[in-house]
Amino acid sequence: MRLEDHVRFVRGIGPKKAELLQKLGIETLADAIGCYPRGYEDRTRIIPIAQLVDGEKQCIHAIVGAQPATAHIRKGMDVTRCKVFDSSGSIALRFFNNRYAAAGLEVGQEYAFYGKVQAEGRSFVMLAPEFEPVSRESRTGRILPIYPLTAGLSQKDLYRVTDAALQAAGDVKDFLPEDIRNRQKLPPLGKALPYIHRPQTMEQAQQARHRMVFEELFLLSCGMGFLRSGREGKQGARLRDLSLGAFYRALPFELTGAQRRAIEACTMDIAAGKPLRRLVQGDVGSGKTMVAAALCCLAANNGRQAAIMAPTELLAQQHMQTLGPLLQKLGISCGLLTGSLGAKKKREITQQMEDGTLSVAIGTHALLSEQVRFHDLAVAVVDEQHRFGVNQRASLTEKGENVHLLVMSATPIPRTLALLIYGDLDVSIIDELPPGRQKIKTYAVSEKTRPRIDRFIDNQCADGGQVYVVCPLVEDSENIDCVRNSAEHTAERLAKVLPHRTVGLVHGRTKAAEKEQIMSDFAEGRIDILVSTTVIEVGVNVPNATLMVVEDADCFGLSQLHQLRGRVGRGNRQSFCIFYGADRGAEARERLSTLVHTNDGFVIAQKDLEMRGAGDFFGTRQHGLPPMKMANLAGDTRLLEQARQEADALLEQDPELEGQPLLKAKVQKLFSQYGEGAFN
Ligand code: ADP
Ligand code: MG
Repeated sequence: MRLEDHVRFVRGIGPKKAELLQKLGIETLADAIGCYPRGYEDRTRIIPIAQLVDGEKQCIHAIVGAQPATAHIRKGMDVTRCKVFDSSGSIALRFFNNRYAAAGLEVGQEYAFYGKVQAEGRSFVMLAPEFEPVSRESRTGRILPIYPLTAGLSQKDLYRVTDAALQAAGDVKDFLPEDIRNRQKLPPLGKALPYIHRPQTMEQAQQARHRMVFEELFLLSCGMGFLRSGREGKQGARLRDLSLGAFYRALPFELTGAQRRAIEACTMDIAAGKPLRRLVQGDVGSGKTMVAAALCCLAANNGRQAAIMAPTELLAQQHMQTLGPLLQKLGISCGLLTGSLGAKKKREITQQMEDGTLSVAIGTHALLSEQVRFHDLAVAVVDEQHRFGVNQRASLTEKGENVHLLVMSATPIPRTLALLIYGDLDVSIIDELPPGRQKIKTYAVSEKTRPRIDRFIDNQCADGGQVYVVCPLVEDSENIDCVRNSAEHTAERLAKVLPHRTVGLVHGRTKAAEKEQIMSDFAEGRIDILVSTTVIEVGVNVPNATLMVVEDADCFGLSQLHQLRGRVGRGNRQSFCIFYGADRGAEARERLSTLVHTNDGFVIAQKDLEMRGAGDFFGTRQHGLPPMKMANLAGDTRLLEQARQEADALLEQDPELEGQPLLKAKVQKLFSQYGEGAFN
C-alpha cells in the first residue's frame, strides 16, 4: 500500500472501523503515521517470578503448570485460575469472566504474561494478564505503544493501521535538512517513524519524541519566518504627513515615555516605507489605546482610513466612547460597527466606510465580514490580540492595500514564547503606567471574613468610589464544584445586606442593549456595585471604581485574575482588590499569594505557567497558532529556542526554501490547514 491510500483497505479494517478511525483524524496511511502513541508499556524486562513486586504491571516468561479451572463466585462473576512457573518460582494467574481467554493456555507450554501483580497473603497473583506464546513475533516481551482510542477500536486495530503505514512509509525522504539533523543529533525520519511506533528500547522512543518535538517547533518557526520575510521588499501604505503635534495637544494628559516610544517606533516603521507589523504589549491600564489613537490620526491626516477591531461589543463601544470625542476634536470622523447594530444603521456605517466619508471605523469581528469594504484602508489595529488567530489579524489587513497593522495585547508572555507566537511581528513594550497611579492593595481572604468585606464595600461607596464584584458563573444551579457564589446569588445577597446601595447585574445572558445600559449607568456613577461574570474581563474602563472583589477566585487562572484586578486603580485614588478563596486549600493559597505579592504581569504569567503547565494559558485558542501534537510550548522552551535559531539561519540563506522543496511543502501544509490567508 501507499501512504495516500485509505485505511479502509488495510486488512482487518474495513469501512466500519475506518469510520471510527476517522474520529481520531485518521483517513489515510499518512494520517496513521502521524498518529503517535500517547505512551508505552515497557514489556522488555522479563522478571523472574521470585523477584516480582507488588502493585506494578510486569512481564514474566512462565510455563503453564495445570489446566485452568473456572469457579462461579456469584451471579455474573466467574473467576478462572491457573498456576504457572519459571525456574525461580510459581504464581497464580486470575482471569475474571473470561474463561475463553484462559482456555487457550496449554499445559507445559511457555508464554509471556503481562499484567498487574498483587500481593495476597504471603504470595502474589497476576490479574487478568495478556499473554502470548514466547516466540520472536510476540508483542509481550517488547515495548508496546499505547495509542489514543475511541469506542469500538482496540489497540490491535491501531497496530494494524500503523503497521501498514510504516511499511508504506518504507525509506521515506526526510524533509529536515541533514546538517540541521546532525547538529541537533536527531534521527532521520526513516528511523524516527519506526522508533516512535515500534521502539525496541525506551531510549529509541525518547529519541523519536525529541525529533518530533523539534520538527514541530521547527516547522512552526519556518512558517512564522515566512510570514515575516513575506513583507520584506513590500511597501507599506505611504503616509507623507507624520506629524502628531495636534494630536498631542488635544490629549487631556501627557503621554508616558513608554507610550511615546511605542508611537515613535510605529511612525519610524511607516516612514521607512515598510509595512508596519507591530505588537504593543503592556499591562492592563498602561494606556495602549492611545497608541492606536495616534495611528488612526496619522491615517486620517493623510486622507486615508483606519480600523480598530476589538474582541467584544463592550470593548468596541468603550473605544468608541473614549476615542470618538478625542478624534472628533481633531476633526476626524469615527463610527462604530458591531454585529448587534440594526440593519439600517449598519448599512449607513458601511456605506460611509465604503465611500470614504468615515475616517475611523471601530468594531468587532463584524469588520471582517465580506460586505464590509473600505474606501482606502491604511491602518488596522487589533486590540487584545490573543483573542484572535494569526489569520484573523491578517484578514483585516486584506481590506486595503499595504495596510499597516498594529496589534495590542495585555497578556504578558515569556520572551521565548513571544518570539514564536508573535514571530512575525516587531514588539514594543509599554512598561510604565500613567502617572499618579497607586499600587492596588490586594488581599486573599476566606469565607469567614465576609462580614468585614461587606462593610468594606459599603465604605468604598460611602467614600464616593464604586465596586466591581466578579463571579465565575451566572446562576447557582450550574453544577461546577468550585463555585459557591454565582452572580445572581451574589447580587441578591448584596442588595439585601446593603439596601441603601444600588446593585447592578451583568452577565453573558444579559441582552446587549440592557448590558450597555447597565455598563453606562455604572460608568456614570448611577450604580454603586456592579456584579458580573467575566464579561468585564478585558479593557473596560471606569476610573472611579476603587474596589474589585472576586468570588471563588480559585476558579480563575492567575493571569485572568491579574487582568480583572486591572479594572480598578485607573484613577488617582487608592484602589483595592479582594480575592475570595484563601480557604480552598494550599494550592489556591499559593496561587493567590502570588497576586498579593506582585503586580508584575510577566512574573504572574510565569508563575501561572509553572503551576498549570501550558494549560489554557497557551491553549491554541489563545495564541492563534496551529495546534501542537507533541511539543509543549511552555515546557520545551530550550528546544524551541534551538528550532527557531535553525529556522532563522536556514531562511537567511534560502528565504524561499528553494533548496528544500519537501520542507517548504510541509510548512505550507501546516499553515494552510489551519487558515487561509496566513501567507498573505
Ligand atoms: P489599556 O492598556 O489597558 O488598553 P487604556 O488605554 O484603556 O489601557 O488606558 C487606561 C486608562 O488610562 C484610560 O482611562 C486612559 O484614558 C488613561 N490614560 C492613558 N494614558 C494616559 C496618560 N499618559 N496619562 C494619564 N492617563 C492615561
Ligand atoms: Mg485596552
